[in-house]
Amino acid sequence: MRFVFLGTGTSAGVPAIGCDCAVCTSADPRDQRLRTSAALEFTDADGRERVILIDSGPDLRAQALRRGLRRCDAILFTHNHVDHTFGLDEVRRFNAVQKTPISIHAEGKTLGDLRRVFAHIFDRDQNVNNSFVASLIPHVIDPDAPFEIHGVRVTPLRLLHGKLPILGFRFDHARPIAGGESSPLPLAYCTDVSGIPPATWKRLTGLRTLVLDALRHRKHSTHLTIDEAVSVAQNVGATRTYFVHMSHDVPHAQTNESLPRGMRLAHDGLVLE
Ligand SMILES: [Zn+2]
Ligand SMILES: [Zn+2]
Ligand SMILES: [Zn+2]
Repeated sequence: MRFVFLGTGTSAGVPAIGCDCAVCTSADPRDQRLRTSAALEFTDADGRERVILIDSGPDLRAQALRRGLRRCDAILFTHNHVDHTFGLDEVRRFNAVQKTPISIHAEGKTLGDLRRVFAHIFDRDQNVNNSFVASLIPHVIDPDAPFEIHGVRVTPLRLLHGKLPILGFRFDHARPIAGGESSPLPLAYCTDVSGIPPATWKRLTGLRTLVLDALRHRKHSTHLTIDEAVSVAQNVGATRTYFVHMSHDVPHAQTNESLPRGMRLAHDGLVLE
């Protein structure tokens, strides 16, 4: 079981277009951040390689090529913001390679948004020409109902992104894993969050890994600051916490030195086992 950070940057990406700041011009590759997205790679009980994507941002093509992703079994959507959904078109290549449709999982409102934005995928019979579009199987997530994908138990986590209710996800092994086998699970993935409702806290216990939004130091209405994220992480008490969705205000090396034990900034390409 591997958890891969495909992208760790905020919505504009880092470097930002037209910016000459120290982070945008940094020589440290960890200061280059594609839009926030992640993959869970594992072998299922039948020995088949599986990949679950969390979100399909506008950098998905570059991320898939960089990681060498060759398949996608399911996509979990946190919310319909451009930086988390606008790469959905790219998954048609996975359809072509693996010759199966891809399950997508999102709340009803998010699925409705995806149907509107990607009408050429969902209403393909309306396309003027029969063009090469993704083949998807939509599943509506009930935020109170955990579900299972190829032996991974997925528990939706209600989060607040400013006033917008969105989803994070907790991943657990549905069945015990062999002794000695390493795993980043239980893992909770909480991007684009500024508030955690009381009922969600009890779903964040016993984590080996917490992945948490930490935009920048300055206050923001829809994202946790680094100080706020550190405070949330201390309350959650996961064995280790990785921060994501950073802006160009956050230099990687310097910021990491200032973080408490067990907390780090993630960087693109980082793999947890
Ligand atoms: Zn975002
Ligand atoms: Zn910059
Ligand atoms: Zn967002």
